[in-house]
Amino acid sequence: MRVLIAGGGIGGLSLALSLHAAGIDDLHVLEAGRVEELGVGINVLPHAVRELSELGLSGELAAAGLATSEFVMFNKHGQRIWGEPRGLAAGYRWPQYSIHRGRLLGVLQRAFLERLGSGRLHPGHRVVSASEDGSTVFAELTGGARVQGDVLVGADGIHSVLRARRCPGEGGPLWNGITMWRAVAPGVPFLTGASMVMIGYFGKRAVVYPITRPDRDGRALINIVLEATTGDSRPMPRQDWDHVVDPAEIRALFSGMRFGWIDVDALIDAAPRWWQYPMVDRDPLEQWRSGLITLLGDAAHPMYPVGANGASQAILDARVLARALALAPTVDEALERYEAERRPATAAVVLANRAAGPEKCMELAEARAPAGFDRVEDVFAPGELQELSSRYQRTAGFDPALLNGRPSLSVFR
Ligand SMILES: Cc1cc2nc3c(=O)[nH]c(=O)nc-3n(C[C@H](O)[C@H](O)[C@H](O)COP(=O)(O)OP(=O)(O)OC[C@H]3O[C@@H](n4cnc5c(N)ncnc54)[C@H](O)[C@@H]3O)c2cc1C
Repeated sequence: MRVLIAGGGIGGLSLALSLHAAGIDDLHVLEAGRVEELGVGINVLPHAVRELSELGLSGELAAAGLATSEFVMFNKHGQRIWGEPRGLAAGYRWPQYSIHRGRLLGVLQRAFLERLGSGRLHPGHRVVSASEDGSTVFAELTGGARVQGDVLVGADGIHSVLRARRCPGEGGPLWNGITMWRAVAPGVPFLTGASMVMIGYFGKRAVVYPITRPDRDGRALINIVLEATTGDSRPMPRQDWDHVVDPAEIRALFSGMRFGWIDVDALIDAAPRWWQYPMVDRDPLEQWRSGLITLLGDAAHPMYPVGANGASQAILDARVLARALALAPTVDEALERYEAERRPATAAVVLANRAAGPEKCMELAEARAPAGFDRVEDVFAPGELQELSSRYQRTAGFDPALLNGRPSLSVFR
């Protein structure tokens, strides 16, 4: 079986490695650009770390990322609303990693080249369309070339051409009016030294976490995402990954986020470059598949970066699809099995993220106690905060007991 993969991002490369591990080596990754170590920080949650570990990448991940120890949310006054241990500290059998997206991509690319060689990774191959003839599918490339396969997977990101082919009337991504500014800055790690924190509420908040261990002078690389509702005052910024902006406008919006344990102002000044993105997603689709073509990762289910799940869900898609292609008697049945498992699961995450996911407590704290509180127990009912967190973990597939207990997705022959 020959598998064509449009897109060499985290989803596409994870699929290639998963297919290889499942015994399918006849695959080609068609990547529009170069596989470059681009981006800022990203989180890989324990359900995805399990999958990458089963692909033999646990050592590389540990070296490239920082094992996150806790996730803590604060209101805009810097008062702690909710905190929970993460990764091994939370009882998972696998860590959670905060990692530079580019370094994660580097880990996947190096494994690809070692295991499959350079002949199967094709940078500069942009898929512009696709066609089918019986049991053969053709990826049509810029310049008129065609590549032939038995199945074509659209792992070509939020602006997927294969999704557009599937849903011609869909249009662009949907913006919720929030603009995000992202950067990586040198800074001193805070709290446990491996804490992921959020400060504020959906619409005006900071998300901050280190993505490396500290160097000799005690400083690490700190990932910062600042978010503000700008929908009424400016048009939607471009959704791409290279839109650099002047930090002056960020300072004007966010100055004053300084508490005893963290100084967001200082991080804003320390960051060498700021990128801007709209917070966008798309409505869940009724069907991913058309004939011999299916979708994966952001092409299938772009979601708000709430709950830190985008990359992790793409990795899970990759593992489930590879298993289905390896074990199902026909491509037809494999694509059905994959979609039956992953489409409803990821649609639930897209919708949960629209409702603020595990960060809902920040909204509730802002609505119920905008001037702050003396005791968080005065703002939330007993068990309410735990339930918000647990519900999201179940929806997104990283409830500790369920994840630790579920069977492997690896194909054992
Ligand atoms: C350059 C870049 C930087 C990013 N930085 C961050 C970040 O800092 N933090 C974060 O949370 N998320 C970031 N993301 C998004 C994040 O990687 C995804 O949300 C998530 O990992 C899901 O991965 P994916 O493989 O489905 O999509 P993506 O990671 O978007 O990968 C899609 C791949 O497909 C390629 N492609 C696009 N169109 C075509 C085509 N027509 N033919 C062939 N190839 C095509 C793209 O070049 C890209 O390599 C970034 C994405 C990109 C592309």
